[in-house]
Amino acid sequence: MEKRKVIIIGAGPAGYVAAIRASQLGAEVTLVEKETIGGTCLNRGCIPTKSLVSSIEVLNLTRRGEEFGLEVGETKPNFSWMMNRKDRIVSQLRRGVHYLLSRNNIKLLQGKASFLAPYKIKVETPEGMKEIEGERIIIATGSKPILLPFINADHPTVLTSEKALTLKEVPQNLIILGAGVIGCEFTSIFNRLGSKITIVEMMDQILPKEDRGVARQMEQIFQKEGINVFTKTKLERITRYQNDKITVELDNGKEITANKILVCIGRTPYTEDLGLENLGLELDDKGNIKVNERMETNIKGIYAAGDVVGEPLLAHVAFKEGIVAAENALGIDSKMNYNTIPHCIFTFPQIGTVGLTADAAREKDIRIKMGRFSFAANGKAQAMGETRGFVQMIVEEDSGKILGAQIIGPQATELIHEIALSIKWGATVEELGNLPYAHPTLSETVMEAALSAQGKPIHSI
Ligand code: FAD
Repeated sequence: MEKRKVIIIGAGPAGYVAAIRASQLGAEVTLVEKETIGGTCLNRGCIPTKSLVSSIEVLNLTRRGEEFGLEVGETKPNFSWMMNRKDRIVSQLRRGVHYLLSRNNIKLLQGKASFLAPYKIKVETPEGMKEIEGERIIIATGSKPILLPFINADHPTVLTSEKALTLKEVPQNLIILGAGVIGCEFTSIFNRLGSKITIVEMMDQILPKEDRGVARQMEQIFQKEGINVFTKTKLERITRYQNDKITVELDNGKEITANKILVCIGRTPYTEDLGLENLGLELDDKGNIKVNERMETNIKGIYAAGDVVGEPLLAHVAFKEGIVAAENALGIDSKMNYNTIPHCIFTFPQIGTVGLTADAAREKDIRIKMGRFSFAANGKAQAMGETRGFVQMIVEEDSGKILGAQIIGPQATELIHEIALSIKWGATVEELGNLPYAHPTLSETVMEAALSAQGKPIHSI
């Protein structure tokens, strides 16, 4: 039987995973990538930032050596070693993805793709223009940072997340414009490396998409660590560019000078020069490609997945959407479900959330009860010296079913998954609270929050 020809544009998490799944399902797959395999996540997003976060975790612990009964000399971060380590990890993982592609017989075509007609694509390769045709096309071209028109993005003092990951030295003073996930993660990194940071956020809380209590605690932690936080504040204009300094004016009348400004005010879908006008492909009002739960666009045989279809802009969402797109492209009925997507923020301490917040549940007129347990009352957290934060559980009052959870604290990005699984399987707080959890573990905080929601907390203080 002849193999079905599938073309995938973009080799980030959505594209390369879609390619592997399509190949597993017997397709002849061509994956087109204009830059490097792994996309934003591997080359300039999740992996490089988390490599730096891991370096900072070790720095934090060694600096606290005495607290743990160790005699340690002065610990100094070496920024260029950290950046080299990050680059090595990225290269190693990139080699891993190349290996996976070749093991799955995926044809990788280096170049920029654009549509000539629905199933006909031209690719500008280093060897010249090529035309390829496929029966199914998956668009997985990702997103790029949004910039403000009045900021000169080419000036050396102006950074995007991508440029921040190629810095040669730690900026002495740094303005973080936008306190979403990316802004807060970079704040945590550069603060520990010694930058004096000012956060400017126009919404009324940092992490505007997160639960108010979690965001408030993170803001208090930032302030305690000497970070200047301006919420409900807009950047009005740049008043001065110098070689190594930038001065900005805020709408509260304050003027701030720093060595760099890191602009992280959001991302926009990457659909530039894709020739979508040749297709009549429907976009939403933010320019995201419109898809249904099967990742189908309005044109038969053309699918889209990952950041290019809009929120939530997360690598694990892109992986899953890529799989769903590939399966539908090859005749398997597969649907996306966004109810149990974990959202993780790698600050110090970490944040992990899933499902509904209390506000969201109330907006849906769901009667809820809540459970809450503080890490300060957990033996393992005490032993680790990581007592900041809490686990908060949102529970449907009548059924006891878990609807959501917000965790701020040690290993929150790992702990959140058992709650995601509980939501997915319709578990109740009784079931979670009855489970014997190993002692002493951080996971006990999840059990205790489940007990607290039932009004029978054991270790609550
Ligand atoms: P991308 O990864 O952007 O890949 C798209 C690819 O398509 C790119 O390689 C691009 O070169 C290619 N392409 C575009 N146009 C064309 C064309 N015309 N022809 C050929 N190729 C093309 N998410 C998490 O889940 N966890 C994290 O910890 C996390 N940290 C992040 C940190 C930062 C600083 C940033 C910026 C993002 C982070 N993200 C994180 C988000 C995550 O990186 C994205 O959600 C994910 O990369 C989206 O995958 P994608 O495949 O849709 O797009």
